Amino acid sequence: MVCLPSLLPRLERHCLEKDIPPESFNLRNIFVVGELFSENFCNHYENVFNSRLVNMYASTELGLVASECHHHNLHVWEDFFHTEVIDSDTAEPCEDGATGELVITALQREALPLIRYNTQDLVEMHKSPCECGHPGTYLSSIKGRRDNMFTINGGNIYPIALENIITAIDGFSSFCRCIIEKIDAHDCLTFKVETRDDIDEQEAKHLAQLLYSRLTSSDITLRLIFRGLESASRLDIQILQPGAISLKSGKIKNNISQVDSHT
Ligand SMILES: [Zn+2]
Repeated sequence: MVCLPSLLPRLERHCLEKDIPPESFNLRNIFVVGELFSENFCNHYENVFNSRLVNMYASTELGLVASECHHHNLHVWEDFFHTEVIDSDTAEPCEDGATGELVITALQREALPLIRYNTQDLVEMHKSPCECGHPGTYLSSIKGRRDNMFTINGGNIYPIALENIITAIDGFSSFCRCIIEKIDAHDCLTFKVETRDDIDEQEAKHLAQLLYSRLTSSDITLRLIFRGLESASRLDIQILQPGAISLKSGKIKNNISQVDSHT
């Protein structure tokens, strides 16, 4: 099966509603493409479908560029693509293993040549052999598109960092939505997170507290952002019932909305 990762929670829910065991699909591999997902998300759906999730890196302009090995590194299809990683500010090539923007040249395109096409995806690229034994170039730690990063309260947040935190908490699905508003020139964040099962008010309150404690005990950037917002009463964590975010169509994981200023 080939799909967007965000299809998997919907399929899991459908199986639950129709009383179909997900493992009865007998899927050997599930190839997922088009969205980032956390390690916890991967482990959960490998268990649910009794299958292996294989990550693929692709873009609309280039098609499939890299596929994952058993060590979760994305090996570039070097017969077809030449990849470089450049510094976002200077456009100079990055050191091996440093994070930068992925630039790709398609080697076998004729009708639509793409030469040094900047995907704006922030990745780490490695030239040294992977542990799997493959000698070629591989990508690891894809952080997503540079323009998916958002800045709030003076700090930068990548959606995948939030997903890593919510999927590590039992009871949440991988779906969340951030709404950033400027009120009286200050950033305010509404952070909506969807649960995996129906919950009551007491459980929602407990999950909101647990989420806040995880956000403020993670890396220093998130800690400062979320503590700052909470202390100024500019953080609203909302726990939503299953399907409230995930049942929307298309690529819907981890939406960020910037709302115009109002006073
Ligand atoms: Zn490998």
